[in-house]
Amino acid sequence: MMSRPSVVVVGSSNTDMILRVERIPVRGETILGGAFATAAGGKGANQAVGAARAGGKVALVARLGRDMFGDQALAGFARDGIDVTQVVRDDRFPSGVAFIFVASDGENSIGVASGANARLTPGDVRRAQNVFSHAKVVVAQLEVPLAAVTAAAVSAEKAGAQFILNPAPACAVPDALLRRVTVLTPNETEAELLTGIRVVDEASASKAAARLRRRGARNVIVTLGSKGAWVATERGETMIAGFRVKTVDTTAAGDIFNGALAVALAEGQPLERAAQFANAAGALSVTRLGAQDSAPNRRQIERLLAR
Ligand code: ADP
Repeated sequence: MMSRPSVVVVGSSNTDMILRVERIPVRGETILGGAFATAAGGKGANQAVGAARAGGKVALVARLGRDMFGDQALAGFARDGIDVTQVVRDDRFPSGVAFIFVASDGENSIGVASGANARLTPGDVRRAQNVFSHAKVVVAQLEVPLAAVTAAAVSAEKAGAQFILNPAPACAVPDALLRRVTVLTPNETEAELLTGIRVVDEASASKAAARLRRRGARNVIVTLGSKGAWVATERGETMIAGFRVKTVDTTAAGDIFNGALAVALAEGQPLERAAQFANAAGALSVTRLGAQDSAPNRRQIERLLAR
């Protein structure tokens, strides 16, 4: 059997504290009622779980606090067979948490305490050399300090691995970092923040992608929600139409897309085909509630792709 493709994810891990309320409380207000749930989240952790379920051999480089939330996150990673030897437990800062109000109309309001995520250092990344040395693809996002993301890009280059940067949450990225990116994967909002071009359709996605390629990213995939994704490569550009699915919860669709994309690229699939695979994984994720809970497995992704 072919050995499983090696993926390293450098990024955040959070515990989402979700409170379903009739409506979002206003300043100074207390609202009684509503269901509470906790769920495993954080873009880095979501992408790691997405990649593991899609068939990757995944290692996560991250920081957690020495607390109950950190323990629970690690237990979740173990269930998905993720290598956590490079997850550092921070002695001073707590694990990251997100407080999420979800109103009955689906509207939400979120506050994030980054905690240990904000303490991930270039040294943490460099010390993870043993996992990078096997990596075919390295993935990072922007919920951890830019210095750690840049170190991930450098480590990827040294390992001869492709580097996927998911520039989320939306925030500026220096050209020096873009030049190290094999595939940049902004959604519409992030593409707009990075280029100033309002991305609403294929034409504007194409324009934004071209600008990001000129700034140094070798390939760009602009994810367009239910519409699918725009893929711009050295060889040309193409639209990948979204799968028609019943949407239940779009949380983490982009994360699951990126995790699956990493696995397909690590297997040596060409970018367009890898993007199709990711498109199927992203579509399946919106048919289920939750972030990591919504990540589909390999068999489910292949079944949708074959349809
Ligand atoms: P983010 O979650 O980062 O905002 P998107 O909303 O662009 O990212 O979703 C990422 C990918 O997930 C899309 O490119 C698409 O492949 C898939 N996807 C998202 N929403 C849907 C949907 N409603 N129906 C089908 N596929 C979807």
